[in-house]
Amino acid sequence: MTLDDEISKLLQTDAKIKKLAMKIPKFSRDSIAVCQDCKNNGIGSIPACTLENGLIVFCADNQVPWAPTRTLLIHELVHLYDMRVKNWDLDDQSFLTLSEARAYDFSEYCDSKNRLSRVTLETKPKCISRMVANSVSHIFKIDAFSVRAEVENIYKNREKIMSDLENF
Ligand SMILES: [Zn+2]
Repeated sequence: MTLDDEISKLLQTDAKIKKLAMKIPKFSRDSIAVCQDCKNNGIGSIPACTLENGLIVFCADNQVPWAPTRTLLIHELVHLYDMRVKNWDLDDQSFLTLSEARAYDFSEYCDSKNRLSRVTLETKPKCISRMVANSVSHIFKIDAFSVRAEVENIYKNREKIMSDLENF
């Protein structure tokens, strides 16, 4: 199955993805594009991202086994939801930090099933803070340790940051 077909199938069949996509104003299949050659067109070596104009881009040349398409799609849909529903400016460091924490959490990237498959024993909050620190410290050229501390702190109140996504 091509990446395009896989994305279309997930949007039609996956209950969690359908529910989230429905909540995003103006969302359609055209909100997601697959790029075959991200490394050479300026996007770089990331597997997927959401552009400022709200276009979700999947990079066919950067797919990795530990980040399945479903996980990536939920992650990017959370960013789009935060942009369109919550009106967060993801160029702002604190909004991006919060949105990344929500995206890594809701996509189940750090849940035990997925963590075990990557043979790590870290807890979910540690995994999420590490992943968020990777993204945010890279974008804003800031110290990863301060981002980790910030995420672990906001994550102590997980229910507060996740309730709108979990209680549709
Ligand atoms: Zn992200």
